[in-house]
Amino acid sequence: MTILVRPRALEDFKVREFQLLIDGRWVDGSSGASIERKSPGHGVVVSRYQAATKADAERAIAAARRAFDTGTWCRMTGAERSNILLKAAELIAARSDELAYLDCIESGKPISQAKAELGGAVDIWRYAAALGRDLHGESYNTLGEGTLGVVLREAIGVVSIITPWNFPFLIVSQKLPFALAAGCTAVVKPSELTSGSTLVLGEILMEAGVPAGVVNIVTGTGAEVGAPMTVHPDVDMVSFTGSTLVGKLTMANAAQTLKKVSLELGGKNPQIVFPDAELDDFIDAAVFGAYFNAGECCNAGSRLIIHRDIADDVVARIAAHSAKVKVGDPLDPQTKVGAIITPEHLAKIDGYVRNAATGGANISHGGEPLELGMGQFMSPTILSAVQPDMAVAREEVFGPVLSVLTFETLDEAVRIANSIDYGLSAGVWSRDFDTCLTIGRQVRAGTIWMNTFMDGASELPFGGYKQSGIGRELGRHAVEDYTETKTLNMHLGRRKVVWAS
Ligand code: NDP
Repeated sequence: MTILVRPRALEDFKVREFQLLIDGRWVDGSSGASIERKSPGHGVVVSRYQAATKADAERAIAAARRAFDTGTWCRMTGAERSNILLKAAELIAARSDELAYLDCIESGKPISQAKAELGGAVDIWRYAAALGRDLHGESYNTLGEGTLGVVLREAIGVVSIITPWNFPFLIVSQKLPFALAAGCTAVVKPSELTSGSTLVLGEILMEAGVPAGVVNIVTGTGAEVGAPMTVHPDVDMVSFTGSTLVGKLTMANAAQTLKKVSLELGGKNPQIVFPDAELDDFIDAAVFGAYFNAGECCNAGSRLIIHRDIADDVVARIAAHSAKVKVGDPLDPQTKVGAIITPEHLAKIDGYVRNAATGGANISHGGEPLELGMGQFMSPTILSAVQPDMAVAREEVFGPVLSVLTFETLDEAVRIANSIDYGLSAGVWSRDFDTCLTIGRQVRAGTIWMNTFMDGASELPFGGYKQSGIGRELGRHAVEDYTETKTLNMHLGRRKVVWAS
C-alpha cells in the first residue's frame, strides 16, 4: 500500500511568461517560438519560455564576451563583487517562496523540499560571496636574490553553464555564484522543462547590481541552444550537470577549442549495510535515499548492498517503512514523493521495473505507476534478488526504485560497489570504525557517507569519480575552478647576459 495525496486542480492559475536575458535586457527569442511547460503533478501549462535559437545563444555569448573583455566585473575588487553576491543572497531569500513554488510546479518536487532547497541555495550564495573575497594566489620569495615569483589567479573568462531539471535552482546555485565570485561572465541555459526559477534569478541579479552582460540566460533545447554554448570559440569554460551521455558529448564539443570542462553526471550510489548497523536509522535513510526527489537525483541511494544474514529482515522493514511515505500532490506540505518529470520518463522508469521483474528480480514493494486523476506518479518500489549484472543494478533509473543486492564479505561488498561505471557517492552503515573507514577508503566515489546519507554542506566538495564526472563543486576550491593560473616571473636588477655573448 502507498499513502496517496491526490492533486488538487490549480485554480485561478495564471501562466507565467518569460523572456531571455541578454546584455542586461529582457528580450524575445529570434524565432518567435515558445516552449510550454506542463506541471508534472497537475497536467496543465504553468510556464511559457522563449524557444531560443543558435543565433540567440551566440548573441548571449557575444554579450558575455564583451562584458568580460571590458572588465566591468572582473576588474572590480573582490569585496565589491562579494557585496553584490551577498545582496543577491538576500534577494533570493526574500523571494524564496516564489522560487520554491516555481520549482515545485515545474519539476513536480514536493513544496516542502523545494523550500528546503532554496534555503540551501541561499547559504551557497553567501558562502561563494565569502570565498570570492579571499581569492588569492601565491608568491615565491625563495628563488634567489634576483627572482620573485608571483602566481596569480585570474578569472577564466566566459563560462557556459548548462543545468538539468531535477534541482533547477540548487544546481545553478552550485555553479553561478562561484563563477561570478571569480570574476567570470556567464551564459546560463536551464533545462527547457524547468527554466522558471533561473529566469527569476536573472531579475534578482540585475536588482542586486550585477552589470549588464555579466549574466545572460537563454532558454531552449539542448541541441539548439546548449550545443553552441559548448563549441563557441568565445567561451572559455563549460560547467555542465546532466546525463553522462550528454556530458561526454559536451566534453567532445569543448575539446574542439580545448575549453576547460566541469561535469557533474550520473550516479548509481550504493548503501552498504553490515549486521551491526543501527538498523532503525539505516531503514529511514534507505527510504529517504531512494525516494527523495522521486529518485530523480544523481545522489540517490538506488543500490542497497546488504549483508546476507540480515537481508530478508531488512527488506521487509524497508517495505513497511516505504508504505508510510506519502506520494502525490507536489503542493501538499505533507507530500514526500511528488510527480515524475514527464510521461516519457515515467514510461522509462516503468520499463526498468518490468525488465527487472522479467529478469528474475522480486517486486517487494510498489512496482507500478500511480493514477491520481492528474499528472504522472510512480509508486516507491523495492526490487529484491537483483543480480549485479542487471540493468537496474548498473544504470541510472532516475525514479523511486530501490535495487537490493546482497554480500557475505567486506571485500565482496566493495567489489560490487565498485563494479559499475559510476562513482558519485556511497554510504556505509556499521558501528565498527574499522569497517566504515575501510569501506570509505576502498569505494571509489566522490562522497562517502558513514552512518548517514545525503547530508551536505556548502563547505564540502561534491563531484564524481569515473563516469560520474570531472571536477568538484562547492568547498573552498570552488571559486578557483573558475580561474586560470598565471605566473609572474620577475627579475630584479640587471639581467646577466649568459646565452649568446
Ligand atoms: P540531459 O543530459 O539531456 O540534460 C541536461 C541539460 O543538458 C539540459 O539543459 C539539456 O537541455 C542540455 N542538453 C541536452 N543536449 C545537449 C547538447 N547536445 N549540448 C548541450 N546541452 C545539452 O538530461 P535529461 O534531462 O535528458 O535526462 C536524461 C537522463 O539523464 C535522466 O534520466 C538521468 O538518468 C540523467 N540526468 C542526470 C542528472 C544529474 O543530476 N546528474 C540530471 C538530469 C538528468 P534540454 O533538456 O533543455 O534539451
